[in-house]
Amino acid sequence: MGDTSIEWTDATWNPVAGCTILTAGCTNCYAMRMAARLDAMGLEKYKGLTRRSGGRAVWTGKIRLDAKSLDAPRTWSKPRKVFVNSMSDLFHPDVQTDYIYRVWQVMKETPRHTYQILTKRPDRMADVLLERRFETLSNVWLGTSVEDDRVLGRLDDIRRVPAIIRFVSLEPLIGSVAAGDLTGIHWAIVGGESGPRARPMKPEWVDEIEKMCRKSGTAFFFKQWGGKNKKATGRLLHDRTYDEMPAPTLSM
Ligand code: SF4
Repeated sequence: MGDTSIEWTDATWNPVAGCTILTAGCTNCYAMRMAARLDAMGLEKYKGLTRRSGGRAVWTGKIRLDAKSLDAPRTWSKPRKVFVNSMSDLFHPDVQTDYIYRVWQVMKETPRHTYQILTKRPDRMADVLLERRFETLSNVWLGTSVEDDRVLGRLDDIRRVPAIIRFVSLEPLIGSVAAGDLTGIHWAIVGGESGPRARPMKPEWVDEIEKMCRKSGTAFFFKQWGGKNKKATGRLLHDRTYDEMPAPTLSM
């Protein structure tokens, strides 16, 4: 946990580590590469979460709950935007609902922070959060990742989630999502894949999303073009940056 270079947040908090690849958006998972590095550096939390296969690190499927890190946000006195579980997926089937509830309680008791939770499993997120004991917290934003049109159903699932802000991360964008609909989604973050095996993102896919955002009133945040050298490709779209942020609504 700690400060981060991710453009749309201030800090990361990882009460869970480890994951399983789910769909094409996971292929070059940054967390998987990072977990292998942290394991090699001797960090116990990441031990055995990945293995080498075909010259790269892949998840073993082991999930580690790090209860010791649960209280970390309580020690941060300055309000922060906190990305929850950059090194896992809080709604992975092996994370027990009772543990998710403990994470919920920490977020409830630290209202000075704004929490951002992103999942590729919004169906489970909706099912869990519709349980009566989970309150809708005004400092928690809930989102899903969509990488191409094969997973557009995730937009329907995230619409079922009770939240003050619902968002979608279209990163890595590896195909058109023009067949989708962003109604009821407050914020869309768009980005191309970065890193040594980056897959290309076509400019027209980005334009399509901006158009969809204008139609549904969704805030549009263009994060990066990506590629092997993301600094070189930058984050300008039509000669400007798009850093729109969502405004909470009372309709949940
Ligand atoms: S769900 Fe997220 S953390 Fe898990 S493998 Fe996919 S990209 Fe990585």
